[in-house]
Amino acid sequence: MAIANTSLYEPLIESTASALAVRLGLFEDNLVLNCEEIGDGNLNLVFHITDPKSGKGVILKQALPYAKVIGESWPLTLDRARIESSALVKQAELAPGLVPEVYYTDQTLAITVMEDLSHLQIARKALMDRKKLPLLAEHIGTFLARTLFYTSDFALKPHVKKRLVKQFTNPDLCKITEDFVFTDPFFDFESNDFEPELREAAEKLWEDTHVKLEVAKLKRKFLTEAEALLHGDLHTGSIFVSETETKVIDPEFAFFGPIGFDPGQFIANLLLNALSREEQDQDFIFEAIEKAWNTFEVEFSAAWKKDSLERFSEVEGYLEHTLEQIFEDTIGFAGCEVIRRTIGLAHVADLDTIEPYSRRIESKIQALELGKKLIKNRLNINEPGQLKRFFRHAI
Ligand code: ADP
Ligand code: MG
Ligand code: MG
Ligand code: MG
Repeated sequence: MAIANTSLYEPLIESTASALAVRLGLFEDNLVLNCEEIGDGNLNLVFHITDPKSGKGVILKQALPYAKVIGESWPLTLDRARIESSALVKQAELAPGLVPEVYYTDQTLAITVMEDLSHLQIARKALMDRKKLPLLAEHIGTFLARTLFYTSDFALKPHVKKRLVKQFTNPDLCKITEDFVFTDPFFDFESNDFEPELREAAEKLWEDTHVKLEVAKLKRKFLTEAEALLHGDLHTGSIFVSETETKVIDPEFAFFGPIGFDPGQFIANLLLNALSREEQDQDFIFEAIEKAWNTFEVEFSAAWKKDSLERFSEVEGYLEHTLEQIFEDTIGFAGCEVIRRTIGLAHVADLDTIEPYSRRIESKIQALELGKKLIKNRLNINEPGQLKRFFRHAI
C-alpha cells in the first residue's frame, strides 16, 4: 500500500491516511483499520480512522489548497493547518479539557491528527434537536474568558504578544471573514444567496446608511485591532457537546483580532437557533446566552485580578470599561453574523430547515430585523438580559 511521502504535499485518500496513522505509531501495524472521510469536502478533508476491535479512533484533518466557493476554485493557503494545530495547542494550555488533544501535526502535508470526538454531537445539531445542554454556556464562557484574556496584552509581555501576533498572521482566512461577514451581505453582491421573497428586505438593508456606517466601524475593528488570539469561527458547528462535555474544534481562522468577535459569533448562532423555535422553547437559548456572558465576565475579571501585567489594571473603572467595550463589540459582531447567515454566502441549517417555507421566510425577515437592531443599538444594550426584549421587538 502506498504510504504518504511527508516531504511533499499530496491530498490523502482513505488508504494513505490510515497507513500514515500506523506509521505515526497511533495504531499497531498488524491491525485492519477502518477509515472514512467525513468532512464536507469544501475546504478540508477529515478522516475518521478506527480500530474496529478496540473501538479506538483518531481524526486526521488535512487542508486542501483551495476552497470551492462561488462555484469556482479559490486558492487558500495550506498554512491554515499550522494555524489550526498551533491554536488547538495554545487553547488546550489555556482552557484545559475544552479542545481536542493534538497528537501530531505536519506542516508539509497540512495535517492535524487529533482526539476522536465521535462520541459527542455537533452543538448546532443538538440545539436543532432541542437537546438540553446544561454545561454548554458555562464551558464556552470559560473557554472565551481564558483563551482571550491570556493571549491579550493584559496577560502577556509586549514582546511575547507581538511574537504571537506574527505567528498567527492569517491573511487568507481573515479575507474570507472580511468579505463574507462584513462586506458582501451589506451590498448587492453576486456572492449573496437568498430566496426571492427576501429581496425587498435585503434592498432595504442595502439602503440603510445608518447600519452600513456601523458595520464599517465594526469591520475596521476586525481589520485593525490585534487584541487577543481569536478562534475566529466560533459558530455552533465548531462545538462538540454532550450533557457533560464541550469541545471547541476547527480554529483554522485563528488570528489576533478584537475580543468581542468570538462571543459575538457564538451568541449570534444561538439567536439564529432561537429564531427557528416556537416562543415557548426559546427560554433555554436566552438563558444560555446570559449564562455564557456572565461566566465570561466572572472568569475574565478573576483572571484580570490574578494575572494582569498591565500597570493600569488597578485603576478604578478600567476593568468595567474594558468589559463594557467588549460587550458592545460582541453585540455588533453578533448582528453582522445574524445578517450574513441569512442572506450571505454561508447559511445555517437552523434557518434553512424551518418548515413550512412561508414560516422560513418570515423567520429570515425577522433575522434581518434583529441583526440591524443589534448593530444599531449595541451602545444601548448593556447586559445580555436585555437581548430577549430586542429579539421580541424584531419578531
Ligand atoms: P472544516 O474546517 O472543513 O469545517 P471541521 O474541523 O469543522 O472542518 O470538521 C468537519 C466535520 O468533521 C465536523 O463537523 C465533524 O463532524 C468532523 N470532525 C472534525 N473534527 C472531529 C473530531 N476531533 N472528532 C470527531 N469528528 C470530527
Ligand atoms: Mg473550518
Ligand atoms: Mg468547521
Ligand atoms: Mg453600553
